[in-house]
Amino acid sequence: MAATEEQTLIITEIFYSIQGEGSFAGEPCAFVRLTGCHLRCLWCDSEYSFFGGEKISLADILDRLRKFPTKNVEITGGEPLLQKNVYSLMNLLNDNGYKIMLETSGARSIEQVPAFVHIVMDLKAPGSGEVEKNIYSNLNYLKPSDDLKVVIRDEADFHWTEKLVKDKNIHAKLMRPPIVQPSFGEMEPAKLAELVKQSALPFRLGLQLHKYIYSPELTGV
Ligand code: SF4
Repeated sequence: MAATEEQTLIITEIFYSIQGEGSFAGEPCAFVRLTGCHLRCLWCDSEYSFFGGEKISLADILDRLRKFPTKNVEITGGEPLLQKNVYSLMNLLNDNGYKIMLETSGARSIEQVPAFVHIVMDLKAPGSGEVEKNIYSNLNYLKPSDDLKVVIRDEADFHWTEKLVKDKNIHAKLMRPPIVQPSFGEMEPAKLAELVKQSALPFRLGLQLHKYIYSPELTGV
């Protein structure tokens, strides 16, 4: 354990807020945002995590998390799977009784992510400008309890998502329907709600709760 805790990660921020996305939306949750991303999604709201960051030991990350009154923690980014020590962090948090969520782009292999981690895979639709980076074999490693999420910029993105989940038989793999989330400020939630209502396939409409609770420009919430 001691050796593990000496390992470091480059971190953009550690904070406590309300989980805004995925199956646990609405629950209090701590967030560990890792620095760096190899994608440049056109609608990205985390560009401040691309560069910089602070090198922090896993022991210090755990100390900071212990100050928050929650055992929910999300590891996010950037793309958190770019830093190999993230796997040690997952093990350390699990050893300390945390329920761990991982937000990942689907553009890094999730094969090594431990089964105790709840994965939210944020696959990229064409409107992101990064659709060619998706690693579709990752879909084979999702557990039934995990979430698949796609940010929708326009109607074409929604129909692309419908085709994807049909072709890959996603509804048979996952316990809950995939989440479609409107690109904030670009796609009207009501318009996406209509597309969800009219679709022959089950979807969940996801809204980024934290952007409605707090100012959309705020970081660390
Ligand atoms: S994968 Fe996430 S952090 Fe990276 S550019 Fe896309 S939205 Fe931003």
